[in-house]
Amino acid sequence: MIKADTNVCIGAGMCALTAPEVFDQSEDDGTVILLTDSPTAEQLAIVEEAVNLCPSGALSLG
Ligand code: SF4
Repeated sequence: MIKADTNVCIGAGMCALTAPEVFDQSEDDGTVILLTDSPTAEQLAIVEEAVNLCPSGALSLG
């Protein structure tokens, strides 16, 4: 299960660039939008990469 804290997100967009099937960004302020909170097994590795790349620590996997 992915969690995204939009209060922490700084809209850097690394997540959407890294895993565009899972993360999008708000057109208003660039903050993260989760397209799914339950990644498939195939998506999990790229989601983990996106979580690690996020500069604000807004993303977590649990
Ligand atoms: S990488 Fe992190 S800070 Fe950047 S848009 Fe995604 S959640 Fe927000």
